[in-house]
Amino acid sequence: MNSKIRKAGTVYLVGAGPGHPGLITRMGYDLLQRCDAVAYDALIPLELVSSLPERVERHYVGRRAGRHSMPQSEKNRLLVDLALRGLNVVRLKGGDTAFFGGTAEEAECLAAAGVRVVVVPGVTAASAVAAASGLPLTDRRGASWVFFATGHGSSAEPTPVPWQEISGLRGGTIVIYMGLANLEEIVKQMLAGGCAAGTPCMIVQGASTGAQRIETSTLIDIVEDCRRKQLKPPALVVVGQVVQHRAYACKPPMPLAGKRILVTCCPQETEAVCAVLRDRGAEPLPYPTYLFEECDDAEGWTRFSSIASSGGWCAFSSAPEVDAFTRALMHHGFDLRSLGKFIIAALGPGVEGELLRIGIRADVAFPFLPQKLALRDLHRGGDSTPANLILISEGMQIDRSEWAEVIELKLRCAKPAAWEPHWTQEVLDNPPDIILFRNPAAVAGFVEILEQETAYSLVVRSNVVVTDEVTAASARRCNLPFVVDTEFLQSLSGGPNCVA
Ligand code: SAH
Repeated sequence: MNSKIRKAGTVYLVGAGPGHPGLITRMGYDLLQRCDAVAYDALIPLELVSSLPERVERHYVGRRAGRHSMPQSEKNRLLVDLALRGLNVVRLKGGDTAFFGGTAEEAECLAAAGVRVVVVPGVTAASAVAAASGLPLTDRRGASWVFFATGHGSSAEPTPVPWQEISGLRGGTIVIYMGLANLEEIVKQMLAGGCAAGTPCMIVQGASTGAQRIETSTLIDIVEDCRRKQLKPPALVVVGQVVQHRAYACKPPMPLAGKRILVTCCPQETEAVCAVLRDRGAEPLPYPTYLFEECDDAEGWTRFSSIASSGGWCAFSSAPEVDAFTRALMHHGFDLRSLGKFIIAALGPGVEGELLRIGIRADVAFPFLPQKLALRDLHRGGDSTPANLILISEGMQIDRSEWAEVIELKLRCAKPAAWEPHWTQEVLDNPPDIILFRNPAAVAGFVEILEQETAYSLVVRSNVVVTDEVTAASARRCNLPFVVDTEFLQSLSGGPNCVA
């Protein structure tokens, strides 16, 4: 179509929330699933982007390791160009669009180019900080106003906020975004403005993420405390008497607290795997290493048809395979009634939920795969009479002698995913604590994307954990040093929550 008559797309300026993927609004999430292109900042939860289908164009416009982010004029131009190509674009920004995010500049520029703009709000960092610490930002007992300020200015005016004037006001809360770099100067001006040296302060780093840290201090000590405790951006500083009203001290200890874990699964699985890790306190770094394409396993389905009437066990190990299974089931002339005689096992992140979505209640559910699938684990020591097993999984290790017949239905084929260049740079600059591999496709994709030498240099600076023997064999073939960290894996699998 002639580009002159092609209808321009809409640009949605969407607040992605402060870091946890659950803190984007329903509206923002739905737009993201439907968009043609996404332009995203550094502080957004990566699984929101890495889980998108391949057809969605991705543009990273945030800060790159050791460098500044793309200049605002370039970001504006990119958004206009994408929209004029007829694409519907989600411009994903950290937190809320209304707070220190360059929203007005982008919206003005798009409107001037005749592009429709829709702004979708999000949860700002201050709200996440309040929730994380149990701290109200206002309180009837003496905090009747909130002042949101940036600690960051231009080189000509490093801190454009009238700190001295504000410090003379009483009865409110001051919330400082981007405050760490100029904190010393800000505190100096606040003290000069009459703010008491003992005014309570709180610093929250990475609110709502696995990197979350909460520290309290006083105005006079805060600079030294931040330095000593090595607090890093993104962090918010809260100053005011309200800090004394923190409702609770900290979250209960979590088994994976503070661990940065590289998640190497396919995009469709990213959100579910990251959710399990986040629930246990970790900070997942989703970097898909392979893509799944559906394929037809004609021989497998013939075997399925030969045992469908006698039943047995049917085990699913990944959420996307549930979807592919139902499609293939129908394609081969069956429907869900064909599973009537099977006991259903959900053996992976998000699988139980995905089965429920299609109307199947799993009889056994593990949030993560057991290292080796054994009939006695599924039965929890009960009846372990050999039965048929339909395995909807890639490469799960099983003791075949325990089963009458094992049919591994191959529903998808893997091909290496393409990494965004800044993802690669980020992991190389700042290696994760753990690189988690759940199947051979992830190992192969990882080595292919990074190339053997770089892959090796990264894994020796991290801990590679494989979930099972089949994946271990694949790591061995690729010369990647790995461990089977049973304590870590135990903390993921948690054990069955329901037994037939
Ligand atoms: N639009 C964003 C703010 C962008 S400015 C919002 O509404 O939250 C970026 C600054 O926000 C960071 O330097 C930090 O001060 C703050 N910030 C963002 N995410 C944060 C988080 N998870 N925890 C603490 N502070 C955060």
